[in-house]
Amino acid sequence: MAKTLVIDQEACSGCGTCAAIAEDCFAISEDSDKAYVVDQSACSEEEIQEAIDTCPEEAITWQD
Ligand code: SF4
Repeated sequence: MAKTLVIDQEACSGCGTCAAIAEDCFAISEDSDKAYVVDQSACSEEEIQEAIDTCPEEAITWQD
């Protein structure tokens, strides 16, 4: 089964870095001020990996 991109809502600070790097995949919720996955298939693996590597809270992970 394909992996699912998950954002740890506890860890996320809502900084917006992931949404700036991969805007088609991540957005910041107006309700929670935290990031959520819009569409994990909308970005390249490189963009997603850069977001994972750049997130200051290490809140973005792949889960099986
Ligand atoms: S880069 Fe990390 S901490 Fe910042 S909004 Fe995205 S998931 Fe949250």
